[in-house]
Amino acid sequence: MLKIKNLHANINDKEILKGIDLDIKAGEVHAIMGPNGSGKSTLASVIAGKEEYEVTKGNVILNGEDLDDMAPDERAHKGIFLSFQYPVEIPGVSVTNFIKTAINETRKANKQEEISAKDLLKKIREKAELLEIDRKFLSRSLNEGFSGGEKKRNEIFQMAMLEPKLAILDETDSGLDIDALKIVANGVNKLKNKDNAIIVITHYQRLLDYIIPDYVHVLHQGKIVKSGGKELALELEEKGYDWLK
Ligand code: ADP
Ligand code: MG
Ligand code: MG
Repeated sequence: MLKIKNLHANINDKEILKGIDLDIKAGEVHAIMGPNGSGKSTLASVIAGKEEYEVTKGNVILNGEDLDDMAPDERAHKGIFLSFQYPVEIPGVSVTNFIKTAINETRKANKQEEISAKDLLKKIREKAELLEIDRKFLSRSLNEGFSGGEKKRNEIFQMAMLEPKLAILDETDSGLDIDALKIVANGVNKLKNKDNAIIVITHYQRLLDYIIPDYVHVLHQGKIVKSGGKELALELEEKGYDWLK
């Protein structure tokens, strides 16, 4: 599904990613770990196509298509979902309405009809039940006064509704309490299927007590210095990152 080959990327002329290779197949969950400042969020941003990053070498290929020069919204329409580290508040726009707009933008870009009110409702019901989200939550204004846990709930709900091919969940290095971790983990476990792939970026081993990744990669100074199975996360928990530097 996603192939990253020898990816190098700069921000403000400073090289941050220094040759990343990654191969992600449908049905897989990959965890990307690594110390603060190792380039985890940069990698997520570059995959999503954020324009402040400059790819200087290498490729990001989604289902055989090179994403080079593709704007973030085009990538989103192709099925890439990046969670928001700093979600915007939109007073007066409900969680539901925001999602409806996002779904219809994607449909329009893919030359499909708008979702009908009936289908939207059905899907909302289905996903809210799956993720155990109170329907009252869905009529609240987007992110307005949301707690950390509610922001995560909203993010996971968006992911469920948009059904991305590749979801990238970049957890901030701070402020994630245990409830928020569990919301993310539960969501990932329930939304994982044979047709999608999920990248979970985390600084914490703790998250991986709840999500069982198929692969774990450790990033250090813009390179993947170690890859392994879920046992690598446990090893990191025990030994920290220093032995890999
Ligand atoms: P992580 O998510 O692993 O903590 P980041 O990808 O956020 O790491 O950052 C990687 C490196 O890039 C850090 O050294 C950081 O200081 C640097 N960096 C990130 N954003 C910018 C920016 N806008 N300008 C300059 N350097 C940046
Ligand atoms: Mg950081
Ligand atoms: Mg980060």
